[in-house]
Amino acid sequence: MPAGPLVVIAPHPDDEVFGAGGLVAMAAAKGLPVHVLMLTDGGGSHRGCCRADEQEVGRRRRELIAQAAKALGYPADDLHYFGQRDGALPHPGEPGFDELATEMADRIRDIAPATILAPHPLEGWQDHVTAELLARAAIAKLERPVQLIHYCVWFWFSLPLWRGLQLPWRAALTLDIEGVRTRKQAAMNIYLNASAPCGNPWVGRLPQEFLRAFAWQKELYFAADAARMM
Ligand SMILES: [Zn+2]
Ligand SMILES: [Zn+2]
Repeated sequence: MPAGPLVVIAPHPDDEVFGAGGLVAMAAAKGLPVHVLMLTDGGGSHRGCCRADEQEVGRRRRELIAQAAKALGYPADDLHYFGQRDGALPHPGEPGFDELATEMADRIRDIAPATILAPHPLEGWQDHVTAELLARAAIAKLERPVQLIHYCVWFWFSLPLWRGLQLPWRAALTLDIEGVRTRKQAAMNIYLNASAPCGNPWVGRLPQEFLRAFAWQKELYFAADAARMM
């Protein structure tokens, strides 16, 4: 459990629930401030599915993240939106990367968190990999140290076995979320049950194999410094 305020860096609205909803609910229940940095609005989740307007998809997902915040027990005022385009977070060295990292650092400085959660760098999804690099760049701009922990969203679905075997499992942390399972499930249902006109959820159709991983009573995290030694 973090020793102070918690910041979750979410590339898209829903990552904070699937990857870290149990920890967020437990931290909020202990009275710790929880802030979510939402880098994109997830407007691209119906590309290749239907003709849903991306702005409309993004608007709906931002409504859903506010409802999910309530279900997990932290105020929607503590959601911070950074207005990036889904699927197009700037990579290191590209225009916009350093500006975005600076903007994130400014917000983080105000929150003064004890712990920052960022997606695991081995997640196959590009925005998730880039979000982790942005988190590191933002942390490097801070004047005082903060603990970086990786959370896992697409990890189970996209990680090839050979790579999983190379992971620094000694840096793995499991959190028993039994006591807040119903809260996390309620927050997941907010995303899973709100559908676009095409019939698929606004967050996109999620594979059964992906959803099955979240029936586990635990959440998996990795201490980031150990991960760097891979
Ligand atoms: Zn995501
Ligand atoms: Zn669709």
